[in-house]
Amino acid sequence: TSFDQMGIRDDLLRGIYAYGFEKPSAIQQRAIMPIVSGRDVIAQAQSGTGKTSMIALSVCQMVDTSSREVQALILSPTRELAAQTEKVILAIGDYINVQAHACIGGKSIGEDIRKLEYGVHAVSGTPGRVCDMIKRRTLRTRSIKLLILDESDEMLSRGFKDQIYDVYRYLPPDLQANSKTFVDYALHYFYQFFIMYSSFMLLY
Ligand code: AMP
Repeated sequence: TSFDQMGIRDDLLRGIYAYGFEKPSAIQQRAIMPIVSGRDVIAQAQSGTGKTSMIALSVCQMVDTSSREVQALILSPTRELAAQTEKVILAIGDYINVQAHACIGGKSIGEDIRKLEYGVHAVSGTPGRVCDMIKRRTLRTRSIKLLILDESDEMLSRGFKDQIYDVYRYLPPDLQANSKTFVDYALHYFYQFFIMYSSFMLLY
């Protein structure tokens, strides 16, 4: 299977090829189509197999860049992973002008506020800082349609469970209603996986 056959938007395809990818990796082949069609996905893959790129691709595929509201939220266990995901979203999404921001501890809150008020489509962050930004009402959640829990097993082992549920309770009610079973599953079982959640299903 090639990227062309996957229902990916044309401008994004250009970004993917410009980034240097020619063919989807195994996990990308299996997961991109369900994600593009708005289904909920739990996927597991070892590191280095194209997982971060797949998350970036999914985010770029689903955002509406004509709006300046946050539509995708990615939670990661470490600052490094959150920053890396932001970087790959910006790189792959260069042609679609996607705006992303990494909300991570240890960086200035002023910068978070400035970026979020300017308006971004995707936020990639660690649970604590993201929760903080939501409670300050700097990070608006009403347009979030896609929640991604990257390395959820690692987030659990680092004790982020309560903070993830905190964030989750601020998400739009339709997304929460649809994703409850998945999120409970991801946060109660200790597997090497990450989960993606999309509320697109509601629209059908
Ligand atoms: P990731 O697991 O997404 O961090 O990817 C690991 C490495 O593989 C990174 O250097 C990516 O740029 C690269 N990579 C991911 N997907 C592909 C692909 N479809 N084709 C070529 N390289 C890829």
